Amino acid sequence: MSIKENLKNIYSTIPENVTLVAVSKTKPVSDLMEAYNSGQRDFGENKIQEMVEKHGQMPKDIKWHMIGHVQTNKIKYMAPFVNLIHGVDKFKTLKEINKEAKKNDRIINCLLQIKIAEEDSKFGMSADEASQILQSQEFSELKNVCVKGVMGMATFTKDQKQILSEFSYLKTTFDTYKAGISENFKPEILSMGMSDDYPIAITCGSNMVRVGSRIFGERNYSN
Ligand SMILES: *Cc1c(COP(=O)(O)O)cnc(C)c1O
Repeated sequence: MSIKENLKNIYSTIPENVTLVAVSKTKPVSDLMEAYNSGQRDFGENKIQEMVEKHGQMPKDIKWHMIGHVQTNKIKYMAPFVNLIHGVDKFKTLKEINKEAKKNDRIINCLLQIKIAEEDSKFGMSADEASQILQSQEFSELKNVCVKGVMGMATFTKDQKQILSEFSYLKTTFDTYKAGISENFKPEILSMGMSDDYPIAITCGSNMVRVGSRIFGERNYSN
């Protein structure tokens, strides 16, 4: 099936309040343009360099999402244009994003990545750590970032019950944070769900899904 048909199929099954981020990492600009030409505007990449290159080659009304681990020394390259940074897993990263945002006279939207999976390989902070950051004086002084919510990745497993329980945990955490709304913390986005688990994520309250292979086909990391 074509990229256009894949997108159409996904859009027909997700509610209107859910934002679909098309995860285009490793895919050529021609594939992204096919998605763009069928109306897709939110794109996700996991490497800053790759996102910067694609941003340079593509129409300027695209919203770029950084979904990967953020290397602090590369933030400056995406600071002028990035729409949302999903993978913030340390206060230090937030501070660095704030610095680069300020240089660009912008407020950059971020999500805190919470570790909900059992696997050690996944990045993210604990719900407690996130909560401590959000309540700290230091955080309230970061005027050029706005934390819009949280992001999480479930364990890579076929066990649907486990995935459901991990996503439910993140939804509960997100709901708890909502009480702490402030100048630079406006919790609206719950980013969870990928190609294999986005329907479960939506059931659990996700309003932003990050889907790659379901749209663009399997990735080939060897090229
Ligand atoms: C690659 C990636 C996705 C998309 O994965 P698919 O299984 O291809 O949909 C979503 N989120 C993150 C953080 C990713 O790195």
